[in-house]
Amino acid sequence: MLTEPAKNSVLVIPCSGIGKVHGLMSREATYLVTDELAPAQTDTLCLALLVKGDSEAVAAVGSHACITIDGCAKACAEKNVTLAGGRVAKAVQVAEAFKNHRGAKPGNATALTDDGWIITREIAESVACEAARLQACEEVIR
Ligand code: SF4
Repeated sequence: MLTEPAKNSVLVIPCSGIGKVHGLMSREATYLVTDELAPAQTDTLCLALLVKGDSEAVAAVGSHACITIDGCAKACAEKNVTLAGGRVAKAVQVAEAFKNHRGAKPGNATALTDDGWIITREIAESVACEAARLQACEEVIR
């Protein structure tokens, strides 16, 4: 996050998952949402900033609805957003998306295969829909 997110944007926060294909998928799904599917409705920030207690990052998760995307059940993004006082409106796990893709070969920690991109895009589309729903709810509440 280089600038403060727009007031009503939804923050999509991936885990850092280095060295695992599921971590790469969480990051790529986030970029698909924030850069392609819902750039006007969403933003992201670096999980490491939250972990080290950066005041701007902590303030951002406290004042925006957050969707976390974690590579596995350790749920590092969800846990750290919650620990920082953020509001996790939806917690997504990449591993869950494989239930509909038994036997898929998603690639490795540095590159996704066609299978990997198909699953990653499904995750991103689901997150973009959820972000739109959350944003609509926030506008009704306001
Ligand atoms: S949620 Fe899993 S893949 Fe992501 S950073 Fe934590 S341990 Fe790694």
